[in-house]
Amino acid sequence: AVFGQKGWKPLWRDPAPKPRYDAIIIGGGGHGLATAYYLAREHGMTNIAVLEKGHIGSGNIGRNTTIVRANYFLPGNQEFYSHSLKLWEGMERDLNYNVMHSQRGLINLFHSDGQRDAFVRRGNAMINQGDDAILLDRDNLRSHLPYLDFDNARFPIYGGLYHPRGGTARHDAVAWGYARAADQRGVDLIQNCEVTGIDIENGVVTGVQTTRGAIKARKVGIVTAGRSGQVAAMAGMRLPIESHVLQAFVTEGLKPVIDHVVSFGMGHFYISQSDKGGLVFGGDLDFYASYAARGNLPMAEHVMEAAMTLMPMIGKARVLRSWGGIMDMTPDGSPIIDTTPTKGLFIDCGWCYGGFKAVPASGFAFAHLMATGQPHATAAKFRLDRFRSGVGLMDEEGTGSQHN
Ligand code: FAD
Repeated sequence: AVFGQKGWKPLWRDPAPKPRYDAIIIGGGGHGLATAYYLAREHGMTNIAVLEKGHIGSGNIGRNTTIVRANYFLPGNQEFYSHSLKLWEGMERDLNYNVMHSQRGLINLFHSDGQRDAFVRRGNAMINQGDDAILLDRDNLRSHLPYLDFDNARFPIYGGLYHPRGGTARHDAVAWGYARAADQRGVDLIQNCEVTGIDIENGVVTGVQTTRGAIKARKVGIVTAGRSGQVAAMAGMRLPIESHVLQAFVTEGLKPVIDHVVSFGMGHFYISQSDKGGLVFGGDLDFYASYAARGNLPMAEHVMEAAMTLMPMIGKARVLRSWGGIMDMTPDGSPIIDTTPTKGLFIDCGWCYGGFKAVPASGFAFAHLMATGQPHATAAKFRLDRFRSGVGLMDEEGTGSQHN
């Protein structure tokens, strides 16, 4: 109405919850919506609901810095993120929705011989997996990223690992695209509906309690990111997860200056430029457990310092906004997609800093698990019991600011 347009239609219905569904997904973030879409598309399950306590897109799916990449090193993570990037590459066609997926290339900088060796190894692993990696030496890098401080004596720039298929996407559009596509296949997206209890009889899930009444289902999936510990506790589970705040920042809109996604190898800082021109950047966790979706000044200062060290020209840009999201951190930095001790209850969580890029493959694998009871091949190593047995841990939290 502001600009005089009329007749806009909502992209999805606003249904009242039914008393019973075949499956319920708790959490309408990226992973929950993708799960619903693939349950409907791949497994023909359409009598299902996504229950979201706020509105679609209000969680981390609308708060992240939108980096999409497949440059993981360890078996288990490699095949999963490789699959995810392929799903990203077909996503706009699949959903018939412009998610502004931009494969502008991602460059991880290295600053020592040892770090270069580690990146060479990672690059080889990526190529073996069928993905792309190119080692850039200092001169080559300089021609691509002339704005970096190549004279910095404390953190000399040796080169970068370039992942051409990496990039960014419009985060909200991913939520909206999956939401519309799921709705079109008959999935009920129920907003302002908080799950307050999980009903279990004789070790079998029977439904959930919500702020909009009780709803029955034989299958329930928990996909609540930073709130996973709280929701799993409703089923008597104690997860190996700590919830932490991660911040991000955006500057005023500038002319195109940063063409890629770039991460600093000697401090917690990574950056890209949005299509509106804002420089979007972030660093590490605030490092205290919290459910507050906002951060504090010490980490903001730390991120700005790292930015100034790497690219002093950024000091001229004015920061417009900062915000935070609640990260579901696992001890080994890798996620969980698994069954639980309660029959019919499934869990998908532990995405740490990096779950945006995982949205399609996580939804695909979790839908497979919920529909068939068997793990999908790409996610078979994301077992919950690895934290109890110590077998199969995948310690890949990322190095430096390559978390995101
Ligand atoms: P969410 O969108 O948080 O979805 C979970 C939903 O569950 C929420 O909407 C919440 O309201 C709902 N919920 C919780 N409890 C209940 C309940 N009781 N009942 C009903 N609903 C409930 N990842 C990358 O790959 N690349 C990046 O560059 C990147 N940058 C990031 C930067 C920041 C600042 C942050 C915060 C995160 C970043 N991430 C990044 C991580 C990524 O955003 C998350 O891992 C991912 O979005 C989590 O999955 P989700 O989208 O399903 O979460």
